[in-house]
Amino acid sequence: MSVLEKLSSSDAIALEEKYGAHNYHPLPVVLSRGEGVYVWDVEGKKYYDFLSAYSAVNQGHCHPKIVNAMTSQAQTLTLTSRAFYNDILGKFEKYACETFGYDKLLPMNTGAEAVETALKICRKWAYEKKGVAENEAEIIVCENNFHGRTTTIISFSNDPIARKNFGPYTKGFIKIEYDNLSVLEETLKTNDNVAGFLVEPIQGEAGVYVPSEGYLAKAKALCEKYDVLFIADEVQTGIGRTGKMLAVDHENVKADILILGKALSGGAYPVSCVLADNEIMDVIGPGNHGSTFGGNPVAAAVGIAALEVVKEEKLAENAQVLGALFRAALNKFIPSSAIVNAVRGKGLLNAILINDTENSSTAWDICLALRDNGLLAKPTHGNIIRFAPPLVMTREQLLDCVAIIIKTLNKFEK
Ligand SMILES: *Cc1c(COP(=O)(O)O)cnc(C)c1O
Repeated sequence: MSVLEKLSSSDAIALEEKYGAHNYHPLPVVLSRGEGVYVWDVEGKKYYDFLSAYSAVNQGHCHPKIVNAMTSQAQTLTLTSRAFYNDILGKFEKYACETFGYDKLLPMNTGAEAVETALKICRKWAYEKKGVAENEAEIIVCENNFHGRTTTIISFSNDPIARKNFGPYTKGFIKIEYDNLSVLEETLKTNDNVAGFLVEPIQGEAGVYVPSEGYLAKAKALCEKYDVLFIADEVQTGIGRTGKMLAVDHENVKADILILGKALSGGAYPVSCVLADNEIMDVIGPGNHGSTFGGNPVAAAVGIAALEVVKEEKLAENAQVLGALFRAALNKFIPSSAIVNAVRGKGLLNAILINDTENSSTAWDICLALRDNGLLAKPTHGNIIRFAPPLVMTREQLLDCVAIIIKTLNKFEK
């Protein structure tokens, strides 16, 4: 089979169905091109991308600056492994450390790898700095978390589909209710072996759950009080998405360990990292951790360009303004709607709650209708539809999208 052969949408879907593992349930649309806020299917139909690859494509599809950085680095040097130095990793590390205000960066590739890295650093810190007895460290996590798909990470998930029949599970995690400070304090108070508290500043996968105002700042203060590391998983919420560079910036919190991924590359390439200050990061020495591709020259070039684009184009500010506009427009529609119960979110990470049961197909059917009307989104849990367009969207484009969404929802009003 020639890779140049043109496939129809149905041919492409049939191939994946037959030869690909069925670990996803994609919306039936086959994309072949992207530019800015738009993607096109193989038949040439144009869509607004309202998912942005789960917030990886914050800078818009095929951003020329990121693509140029990637292709020119790809023609120069792609991989050295960390057995040798390369002449660009240090530049990326410096730029990211200065951008986010940390002493050191540890580069990885995927979000889940960066979460694993943070867990390892946290445990080692507990044994070597806090004085927890070996193998006794516990890390507090939140119910309904999403941190990735590795065996350790799914060990502390409470999504039965993500977990069942993948045991035995990794020990050393305590799961508590999200957005509940008294349970957090109780857990910290009654357990001397807690090393860290791992939290998403907004629970994206769970359905864009925004915690109460002050939750993150108070949780951070509790972590300080009990000598526990506050670990922010900003893989989805970071890099401008919620209207600030980081979602914790809304509460002026500096995480002890910061986890980034997704938009750290603008969707061009897998780039993730963990940031921390010296007293924490210095527990890691040669041989303790690594990755053949982590910190490779292409990733480093892409990472610098992706962060530069966010700053140069003021994407966080744009997300803040357009997000407020989006929620205001939907909040105007909702009182007269029987199909939508609420809209919630921060910046351009939002979700609408569909007025139907969690296992109904209504949200899926709405997403199919949105697709037919030229806008791509996907239900997250059951009756929740996440809306997360690229942050390079203009006001006019956003208003056009709001019109498409409301026109589509009107078709579902009883
Ligand atoms: C997507 C995501 C991850 C996992 O990232 P991968 O690149 O898919 O491994 C981890 N944490 C959060 C909050 C995410 O949204």
